[in-house]
Amino acid sequence: MRRRVLILSLVGLLLAAAGLRWWQTHSNDAEDSIHFRPPNAQERLAAIGDLQSLSPELQRAFDPGQDFAPMPLPGKRDWLANYYEGGQTFAQFLREEPNKPDRERHTIYLQPLNDFSVERAPSLEQLREFTEAYFTLETKLLPTLTIPADQITTRVREGTDRPQWFATHLLQMLEPQLPADAYCLLGITLADMYSSQTPTYVFGQASLRNRTGVFSFARFDPAFYDDPDPPAVETLILRRSCRTLAHEIGHMFGITHCTFFACVVNGSNNLDENDSRPLHVCPVCLRKLHASLGFDPVERDRNLLQVYQQLGLDRDANWVERRLQKVVGSQP
Ligand SMILES: [Zn+2]
Ligand SMILES: [Zn+2]
Repeated sequence: MRRRVLILSLVGLLLAAAGLRWWQTHSNDAEDSIHFRPPNAQERLAAIGDLQSLSPELQRAFDPGQDFAPMPLPGKRDWLANYYEGGQTFAQFLREEPNKPDRERHTIYLQPLNDFSVERAPSLEQLREFTEAYFTLETKLLPTLTIPADQITTRVREGTDRPQWFATHLLQMLEPQLPADAYCLLGITLADMYSSQTPTYVFGQASLRNRTGVFSFARFDPAFYDDPDPPAVETLILRRSCRTLAHEIGHMFGITHCTFFACVVNGSNNLDENDSRPLHVCPVCLRKLHASLGFDPVERDRNLLQVYQQLGLDRDANWVERRLQKVVGSQP
């Protein structure tokens, strides 16, 4: 028993270290290009694993059919041209014995840091609804935690007069606040962040071992870059924020960057690449989530469809609706 705990905590440490790496490199442009060969159809199926022992409904849920785009060849600035990632098959995921919700720890907490009532900020209640439907775990919104400017390490962003918060310090502040029943606690902020290892900025930082993470939505509003508004800018900001939650909470379940299909858990190196990624998990990552959460995939998709329709995420609602018809075999 003692040995098992040690092994698990070592895995936690390794994952935490890897988690920090993912996060902190999200904003970098590496100089050397890495050759990445997208897996072929056979390799993609092998990553999902053998489905024969599963119920017909689960077999349909994990069968990619034509609904999931294969991983594309990365462009020069894209994640997989700059960072080596071997991919994590479903079988590898199981071997790594990742964190799972249990009787004691089964709630996702979202902790807003400072004011979200500013114009065009994503709606906290909508983010909560999305997270709950996506992960099929009760998700609670904590009261806003106001952090006075003199209690957080900040710096002025290079070339501007805008402040940036030190992500590591925020993470340290969150760790003691982890509720006893928390599967994970995620700080969310509209402040821009930096870390000691990146010269520019980070979208977030997380510790799997401590089940805490902090994400910034600052750069999801085109106004951050003084760019003109595209059509439906509020929906764009909301979708980017939802995508970040799905991606980063996916890491909290021990799912590493997906290299098999276009998937919400693909790494991304810039906002354009981020926007090109879907909001859904691919069959490999869906099977991982299912192994940890045990949901009914049809019920999950029906709930997601409803939430996407309410949130105005039409493209994603249409995708889920089409997919449901395949998995159920009739109109949802
Ligand atoms: Zn990531
Ligand atoms: Zn995936």
